Amino acid sequence: MSIATDAQSQARVLARPDHNLSRQRISHNALKVLYRLCRAGYIAYLVGGGVRDLLLQREPKDFDVATNARPEEIRRLFRNSRIIGRRFRLVHVFFRGEIVEVSTFRASPEPPDVPDRWEEELHGPAEEPVNTPATPAEHFGSPEEDAFRRDFTVNSLFYNITDFSIIDHVGGLDDLLAGLIRSIGPAEKRFEEDPVRMMRAIEYSVRLRFRIEDSTAAAISNCRDLIVEAAPARLGYELLEALRSGCSAEICKVWRQYGILGRAFPEVEDRHQILGKILAAVDAQCERGRRFEDATLLACLLLPRFLDLVDELTNDEGRVDNARLMTEFRTVLDPMAGRLHLANHAVHLVHHGLFALTKLKRRPERGRQVIKLTRHEYFPVTWKLFRLGAEAGLFSDETHRAWARAIRRVDGADRGEPVDFVVDPVRRTRRRRRPRRRRQ
Ligand code: ATP
Ligand code: MG
Repeated sequence: MSIATDAQSQARVLARPDHNLSRQRISHNALKVLYRLCRAGYIAYLVGGGVRDLLLQREPKDFDVATNARPEEIRRLFRNSRIIGRRFRLVHVFFRGEIVEVSTFRASPEPPDVPDRWEEELHGPAEEPVNTPATPAEHFGSPEEDAFRRDFTVNSLFYNITDFSIIDHVGGLDDLLAGLIRSIGPAEKRFEEDPVRMMRAIEYSVRLRFRIEDSTAAAISNCRDLIVEAAPARLGYELLEALRSGCSAEICKVWRQYGILGRAFPEVEDRHQILGKILAAVDAQCERGRRFEDATLLACLLLPRFLDLVDELTNDEGRVDNARLMTEFRTVLDPMAGRLHLANHAVHLVHHGLFALTKLKRRPERGRQVIKLTRHEYFPVTWKLFRLGAEAGLFSDETHRAWARAIRRVDGADRGEPVDFVVDPVRRTRRRRRPRRRRQ
């Protein structure tokens, strides 16, 4: 492997014959964005997880681009784009089924904004530049500064579309070969800037089967108390990313070993190893390409606490005090929802979705009972939880099958397929226009 050194910046540059990243594995849309930026005279690199995963021969989750074009300039080049973010504005370029995120090289070591959805649920979409102050010029930086503000060395490699080389400012290539997650710069300082990086270090080490480099690992143990100071929306975002990753059981286990899980999410109390089992079932489904909505994933996370409450509130005859269960579970869910800025609709689905599990404990008796239950908007969450729980050995498989049969019967769709339900997308409430006042 021959490694050239960029004279100006000391970056190591790996020429095309010396690496295995093939352009053919980059999405057409990301290539389109890279080429158009370059043709317009800007520098544009593929960055982040896309480069890392392609070098590891893994399938990237998404493709991110970094450039020296400013957000407004990027926006002008792509009609199918929108500026997002509040502090650091970046541009989403929309294609059918794919969004390519394009950010301007930054100097600031501060954490990036939470990607789109969470912020938008809280504040509505970012205004277009006419009304929002532009990102201060001092926040923009050189490609090298941008590499150093990133979190881990393996996440900081650039792919240059003009000559197909890999540019490494931070030693990421060596760490990729050695299988190491290493903080860029002093780990404790980087975790103080953004405590969520501790969660990310663990998540990557599990997903990639990498070891966390010693001083980075020691810094996580030293800084773990800081996790409570992380921006709530970022905590929620990283949590859901982990739950969707296909390795959520292991990630949560290692978060717990480092003392991060209980500090960040005290509601996820688990006295009976239920969490590991239900998340293993989620992971098995994710491996098969299934996607779960946020409410189902959050309900899985809260299942151990919920089942504990059910136990506490069940009397000797096996009857559950439903009214108390509803209110007591809210005292668990509400603080978490507030802290993580969960959308009201998701909270509703988690609350009722879990609560309805108690109704599936016994085999169905009447068709009307089944029809009534399955009509609720939260039932898809309940059903997925029930199915995952049955797979995990937490609920009776036989009862699950009896419900599946009963649902197919009332559905009139007894085709022997597994019963499935889809949660309605969040219904956004439109602000009603005030009726115009008539002139007298
Ligand atoms: P994946 O998308 O596979 O989960 P990724 O590495 O692409 O992994 P993203 O969350 O998409 O992760 O972020 C893209 C890149 O932005 C990262 O690779 C990293 O370089 C940078 N980044 C993200 N979050 C942070 C952070 N908290 N601090 C510093 N850099 C960050
Ligand atoms: Mg990514």
